[in-house]
Amino acid sequence: MYHSKLTFWISGIREEIVRQWEQLAPLPRFAHVFRTPERLEELPAGRNQIVIFHENAGLLPSKIREQVGKLGTCILCGESLASFSREELLCADEFWCGSFEAQDPIWRIRFEKLLERLKSQKDAWLTENYLDCTINMLPDLVWYKDREGIHLKVNDSFAEVTGKSKEECANKDHYYIWGVSKEDYADKPLDCAASENAVFEAGKTMVFDEDVVMAGKGTRKFRTWKTPVFEEDGTILGTVGIGRDMTQEYEYRKTIEDMAHRDAMTGLANRRYMYEYVRTKCAGKRLTVIAFDLDHFKHVNDTYGHQTGDAALLVLAEMLLRIFDDGLCIRMGGDEFMVVLPDAPSREDVEHRVQKFMDQLLAFYQMDPELEELSVSAGIAYGADMPLPLEELIRQSDAALYQAKQGGRACYRVYSLAMDLDCFV
Ligand code: GH3
Ligand code: MG
Repeated sequence: MYHSKLTFWISGIREEIVRQWEQLAPLPRFAHVFRTPERLEELPAGRNQIVIFHENAGLLPSKIREQVGKLGTCILCGESLASFSREELLCADEFWCGSFEAQDPIWRIRFEKLLERLKSQKDAWLTENYLDCTINMLPDLVWYKDREGIHLKVNDSFAEVTGKSKEECANKDHYYIWGVSKEDYADKPLDCAASENAVFEAGKTMVFDEDVVMAGKGTRKFRTWKTPVFEEDGTILGTVGIGRDMTQEYEYRKTIEDMAHRDAMTGLANRRYMYEYVRTKCAGKRLTVIAFDLDHFKHVNDTYGHQTGDAALLVLAEMLLRIFDDGLCIRMGGDEFMVVLPDAPSREDVEHRVQKFMDQLLAFYQMDPELEELSVSAGIAYGADMPLPLEELIRQSDAALYQAKQGGRACYRVYSLAMDLDCFV
């Protein structure tokens, strides 16, 4: 992808040797320029600047370093280099020592090795550049950690979400980066530490759902993918992690589930959720099911309109929730409601509450001239010791409700076997 023009600044090296170097073909994606610096100040900085100079050229490695910067290359040549201090020598990258015989093949070999090294450096830079471009483009958080959980590298999304720069995150642990105190986690391990240990043990990529506590921003729900990074001998150096903030998705899912479980107008559970509730929360329990239906609702609707009818339904729902707060209140549809009580309260208690509900609702409706003709009828089905299927209890409560309607409305009936017999109807 790259194309690099390398400039070799030569000073004090025998011409025959330089000519050999000039004749060497550049490696693919490289071009060479050879120059002799007139003045030190004209040396530019950067990876493509290579200064090769003889100890007798009157140049100091420290001055060259100042010019080419830490990415440039400074090669000091000479017989012994004894005239340079340790500090000066530390400023050079390489030392090419020996007698400067042009026919000695070592000078060409050294130059060839230098070209290879410059190419390796450029390739390493390109690989890192590819990696940075890729991880910084991702909307997910990406991080690299050592075995002790110290962050070595993070991407732009990570920096943005944590509110810390990439430099601030480097060489820091989870507590610092996410702004949580170690004391708070003295007796419970961090989710991320536990999952990284699992990755170390498994030695393969794993996926987790983790809660990440963020200072001042509450807890976020992350899905994380973590992979061990192996040393050449197979030991694990650390992990690379990808984190996707799923908080919004969780909220959407909860809203969708909620919408699927509820009656939109009253907020009560719907028929579908009643079955799920009994299946998941009432296994093996003796259920009590109570069916309710408004009396004369159609007439109120037809006379005063749907809005008045809706207000009557809302009051009913609210009162149902208040009085039967130990079970599930369901709107079956229209003006039909149901209550499922899972913990087998006494019959006395159930009937007392049904009567209380009917009385309070009636009292409320009678305060409003548009609703005063309304009342409510109910049918109660008590489950047996051997739990009956919900379907059967619904049928029984409906049969009892039918009897309440037949009996003049504004009352409740308890299901009995006789209600199923023809002679009763
Ligand atoms: P009964 O005493 O025998 O129960 O008769 P009723 O007049 O209450 O009539 P019924 O229960 O058979 O009919 C219920 C009515 O409820 C029919 C429909 O127009 C009305 N309804 C159904 N859903 C809604 C709703 O969401 N809002 C309103 N306002 N009315 C509804
Ligand atoms: Mg009705």
